[in-house]
This record gives sequence, C-alpha cells and structure tokens, in this order.
Amino acid sequence: MVKSTIPPMFQVVVDKEKCRKCKRCVMSCSYGALGFTDRVVPDDKNCVACHRCVAMCPENAIMINESPLAYRPHASWTVEHRQGILKQAETGGMLLTGMGNDKPYKIFWDHLVIDACQVTNPSIDPLREPMELRTYLGSKPDKLEFETDKNGQPSLKTQLTPNILLETPIVFAAMSFGSISLNAHRALARAAYESGILMNTGEGGLHKDLYKYGERAIVQVASGRFGVHQEYLNQGSVIEIKVGQGAKPGIGGHLPGEKINSEVSQTRMIPIGSDALSPAPHHDIYSIEDLRQLIYALKEATNYQKPVSVKVSAVHNIAAIASGIVRAGADIVTIDGFRGGTGAAPTIIRDNVGIPIEMALAAVDDRLRKEGIRNQASIIAAGSIRSSGDWVKALALGADAVVIGTAALIAMGCRVCQKCYMGKCTWGIATQNPQLTARLNPEVATERLKNLIRAWSLELKEILGLLGVNSIESLRGNRERLRAIGLTDSEANILGVKHAGE
Ligand code: SF4
Ligand code: SF4
Repeated sequence: MVKSTIPPMFQVVVDKEKCRKCKRCVMSCSYGALGFTDRVVPDDKNCVACHRCVAMCPENAIMINESPLAYRPHASWTVEHRQGILKQAETGGMLLTGMGNDKPYKIFWDHLVIDACQVTNPSIDPLREPMELRTYLGSKPDKLEFETDKNGQPSLKTQLTPNILLETPIVFAAMSFGSISLNAHRALARAAYESGILMNTGEGGLHKDLYKYGERAIVQVASGRFGVHQEYLNQGSVIEIKVGQGAKPGIGGHLPGEKINSEVSQTRMIPIGSDALSPAPHHDIYSIEDLRQLIYALKEATNYQKPVSVKVSAVHNIAAIASGIVRAGADIVTIDGFRGGTGAAPTIIRDNVGIPIEMALAAVDDRLRKEGIRNQASIIAAGSIRSSGDWVKALALGADAVVIGTAALIAMGCRVCQKCYMGKCTWGIATQNPQLTARLNPEVATERLKNLIRAWSLELKEILGLLGVNSIESLRGNRERLRAIGLTDSEANILGVKHAGE
C-alpha cells in the first residue's frame, strides 16, 4: 500500500518531564495515534482530536495542537479543499464525516437578542413565583365546545386528539441504536423518562431492555423500516415518520455491517454483519396522499392513541411542505436544519445542502398561521440548538419544542471530533466495539443528561422571568420579544423580527 502523503491535521505533544509512562493514553486511543516503545510515541496523522488521552492522563502531560505545518495561504484553495482532493486522489471515494455542518455560514441565533422588562411591565422572579414550562405536543382544536346533560352538568363535546406532555419543551434527537451504543441509548431513554421529556429511537428500532422507558420515546419509522413492528409502535408514545434529516437532505443512510452485532441485528431485524441501507425515499411515499396513507396506517395500527410526527429536512420550500404534511394529518412536524448532526454523511452533502433552521422555522410558523392550521400540529425545531439562549429564540420564532442531539452527546462526553462514521468513538458513544462501549457508564451519562435538561430549564425560567411572563405559552411565537443585530432587512423580514432599536 502506498504511504499517504496527506499532512496531519493535529500534533500530539507529550511533556517528557511530566509523563510517568503509565500508558493510559496509549490504551485509551482507538485511532492508533499513540504507541509506546520506551516512551509514548505519537503518530500525528491518526489523531482526530477526540481528547480521550488528554482526559485520561493523570499528569496533564498531553497537549493536542492544530498542526503547525502550514500550507501556503490561498483565499480560494483553502487547506480543507486541498486536503479533501489529496484524500480523494488516494482513495477514489466520497469523503465522509460525522456531526453537523461545520462551515462558517451565518448563525442566525447569534444575530438575535431577547427583549427584557424595565419599569412599566415588571419582570418576574422565577425563584419566588412558579413558571410553567409544561408543553403538550400534538394537534389542538381551534375552539372547545361544551354540552350539558339533562341534569345540567357540563361536559366537553369537542373530541380531543392524543397529546404528549413534556415537562419542559425539549426532546432528545433521533439517534439510532447501531449508530450509537446501547449504553448511550439507555442513558438517553432513562434521562428522558426521568426528566419527563422524550427520546427518539432513530431508525434502528428499540432494544427490548429499553421498552420500560417506551412511554417517553418517539419511535421512528424510516425508509429502511428497521426494527418496525406492531409491538415497537405500541411501545412508544409518539410515532415519527422520518422523511429527511438536516445533515443529509434527500439521501438515505448507511450503517456499515461491522456495526451490526448480534444485539443491533435483533433490534433492527437484519442479519449480523449486513450493511443497513436506508433508501433515499420511502418506497411507498411519492405524493402527499401517500404520506397521508402512511400517517393513517400508523394511527390505525396504534388505535389512534398516539400522535404521529413527520420529520423533514429544512429545504427552501419547507413552508409549503409543512403545510402539506399538516393537511395530510400529521400531529407534529419536526424540521431539521442544515446544521443538524449525523453519525455519517458525505461531507459534500452535509456542508452544502439545506437551509438554516432559524429561517425554516419562521417560514413554517408564518405559513401555518396564515393558512389557519397552526393549531393542527406542533412544530419541533432541530438542527444545532447549542444553549438555552438558542432554545428561547426558537420558541419565540414559533417552535413548540426543540431537539437537542449534539448537545446531549457532548453532555455524555463527546468532543465533536466528527469521526462517528469510523465506529471507533473513544468515548463509547458512536461505536459498537465492546471495549469502547464499556467506557460509557449509562448511570453517569443519565445523570449528566438530566443535569443538562435541568440547567437549561432553570435558565429558560430566568429568561421567561425577565420577559415578564410566567408561562412558555406567552413566549411561543412571540417574535416581538426578539430583535435583530447585524441582519439585512430581508433576513430580518423572513425571521419576522425588527432590528434592534426599532
Ligand atoms: S497518560 Fe500521561 S502520564 Fe501516562 S503515559 Fe500517557 S502521557 Fe504519560
Ligand atoms: S460521538 Fe464520539 S466519534 Fe462522534 S464526534 Fe463525539 S467523540 Fe467523536
């Protein structure tokens, strides 16, 4: 095999004075970036900057630097372009990556600021007054009708459709068992269960050990139909038809055979070691009528007891698409923006296809309101919610709840090295290697996830307080409480916000 000529991205530096040669760093690295002779010997070209060795070193003896080996600067031929071409010239294959789009496109959350009460409309102290974060996902009636019986007792005449209660308006992103480890899935399921929110099985089914958390799970039905059966559908509290994913709109998925071990194979209902290929389209959906048929088939299969969500990627005509989805009978529309995470995607697609969630969300909320069908479905916004600040802004732009994926992974230990597709995650998350999966303690990961939800919810309450409202309902879709900084008129117009100072 010809030796690669591609320069390394990172440089591993071991402080010889501090190192006591315990080899923990060597044992912790699954990428082959550290060897040992009579001392630790780094192999920089294999380093992915996952930081596992740094975290494991008892002497703080390791530093990971960006490679000081500079390319001659060129505004057009960036280092990334040159590295990509060199790699493709060696392999002849597509470049793959993990996690969300890392290109420096404008992040609209960072150009929105939140209003606050001063003097007249007083703020509220969330430490002294209750704040209502509870949210119901599902279709709502436009009005309630009552009737009275012959004894004059009133009762509700309007037929209500099933809704799901979230204690705080957040759900964990769809991440399949297979793309992540069972320990990671277990932590997400249990943290969702104990926090009163929802996890999402992703497209790989639900392991039987996790059925006990099913009442807090969104069970996904994707184009590959992996792990989908009557029992699975009935375990979940929401059924989601996955049409698209923000990180790779318009294409299917591929979980390599080496990740299909016995448990993944049983859960997905495919042979051990076989590649799990999800087709780009659902082979039974080629029109909105087809989608409607599947929505109602799933409702029928679960006795009309569960809301059905449809998840789509944020693309330029998303408002019309969402309108069609609601009219087709979906109770929830989940929109995944182009910075949404993934276990594996062609880099060219992740970085160049789709639109930001901020724009898509505002456009969808506008359209559904204008058409008078906003109450018929909840909107869930996904695609790089990085903090409670992003969360608040998403709610103000019209989301009923948001999805967190990468933030949840980071809470469990992920360092966003973007190498999930290699299946060697040193933190035991995006891998099925038993030596690596054992590194993620599901008890600890559950607590860390619960802490994150709690911390963000406390921050959300503080922000509601400074806005002078005590309920999430008063914030939802209230764009008047946002202002734009550094946006063009047209961008602010799409988002439906005024400029700061207006
Ligand atoms: S973990 Fe730290 S102390 Fe141990 S061998 Fe590696 S660099 Fe040296
Ligand atoms: S899950 Fe693991 S492999 Fe994926 S980005 Fe995070 S640390 Fe890297």
